[in-house]
Amino acid sequence: MTLSTALAQVRHLETEIPGPRSRDLMARKQEAVARGVGTTMPVFAVRAGGGVVEDVDGNVLIDLGSGIAVTTVGASAPRVVDAVREQAEAFTHTCFMVTPYEGYVAVAERLNRLTPGTHTKRSVLFNSGAEAVENAIKIARVATGRQAVVAFDHAYHGRTNLTMALTAKSMPYKQGFGPFAPEVYRAPLSYPYRDGLDGPAAARRAIDVIEKQVGTPAALVIEPIQGEGGFIVPAPGFLPALADWCRANGVVFIADEVQSGFARTGAFFASEHEDLVPDLVVSAKGIAGGLPLSAVTGRAEIMDAVHAGGLGGTYGGNPLACAAALAVIETIESEGLVDRAQKIEMLMKDRLLRLQKDDPRIGDVRGRGAMLAVELVRPGGDEPDPDLARAVSAAAHRQGVIVLTCGTYGNVLRFLPPLSISDELLEDAVEVLTRAFAES
Ligand SMILES: *Cc1c(COP(=O)(O)O)cnc(C)c1O
Repeated sequence: MTLSTALAQVRHLETEIPGPRSRDLMARKQEAVARGVGTTMPVFAVRAGGGVVEDVDGNVLIDLGSGIAVTTVGASAPRVVDAVREQAEAFTHTCFMVTPYEGYVAVAERLNRLTPGTHTKRSVLFNSGAEAVENAIKIARVATGRQAVVAFDHAYHGRTNLTMALTAKSMPYKQGFGPFAPEVYRAPLSYPYRDGLDGPAAARRAIDVIEKQVGTPAALVIEPIQGEGGFIVPAPGFLPALADWCRANGVVFIADEVQSGFARTGAFFASEHEDLVPDLVVSAKGIAGGLPLSAVTGRAEIMDAVHAGGLGGTYGGNPLACAAALAVIETIESEGLVDRAQKIEMLMKDRLLRLQKDDPRIGDVRGRGAMLAVELVRPGGDEPDPDLARAVSAAAHRQGVIVLTCGTYGNVLRFLPPLSISDELLEDAVEVLTRAFAES
């Protein structure tokens, strides 16, 4: 029997949170681990399965975070566990650039089929989201012969040097870490709750900034639904207008679907909600059930502009991660998890909207599929309230529900349940959240 079926899918508090074993481990962490690495929860995990995480004190927590949108098919999903075990017994590494193996090619074939658009595509695999975003930009620069890259307000693209430059928020991601990579420019995003602009108007505003301040860049890089920046869903028409402008000007349109991809939003890729066909799509997080894997997939003529040997890395497309990714895709397809994400949206958004009706501190409820959020404000206006977000999430944590915050102002509670989570667990989690709001 696999771990995920062995672990009962029910919240259970054995001790207070954190319990004594977690407190001991936290003391060891403080002595051994660099201070720069923070943790959301004050507890240490020992097992995870489906929609729950068990800690070292025997507490079983409901997972509304999926390890930041990674265990989308459920923690320790049986197909993933089996595939990784089998692959580990065969071989763990040869380096695809030395002795290639079929798993890498098979993942590329799947990505070429699953990403939006029927044009001829190619894929290349890496380890992390940031690494893939960097490589998408390397590819766009070679393909266009231009250097400038445009990113957007509130964007999050990673923590490496180039992706720090692309990421908007200074604290904690950039503060003190400069100088940053040059030729990165920022354009205003569509943020319906705060700017009140419709999509086409917001796109005109962004394009005006780009044309006046940059000219013709190599690429635009954008998250179709922003992740760390606050789960901001741009107004309808914003993304298509940007894509049209890119096409008209020979600019590479890069969709960073690291957080929004892999069935998370009730489509395989969030770009599909507006029939967007990006030139390049960046995948990571949910792609391999927790094994480190990322990808750039895109138009063959753009991808193949790079000289032989120009792309790669020692571990990129590691065989264990490729086996996991194939199992993830099979799980999504055979268990109808795209539909399940839509169902989770119906269940959860409805509850959040009802909560909002009686609580003026919930300024906005937004998101798609199982990528949902509430933006918290001071009553009577739209002034961000990060203290409330902290208080509500801490109260939920104490009751055994893992929730994450995000947003430029730190005032957004985000919900990223695994798609395999049961209705009962979701209901229980929402009850806990409701009480957390009441007491905060
Ligand atoms: C998490 C994230 C990244 C960075 O991925 P890492 O694997 O942490 O490097 C990039 N873009 C988006 C949209 C993300 O959510």
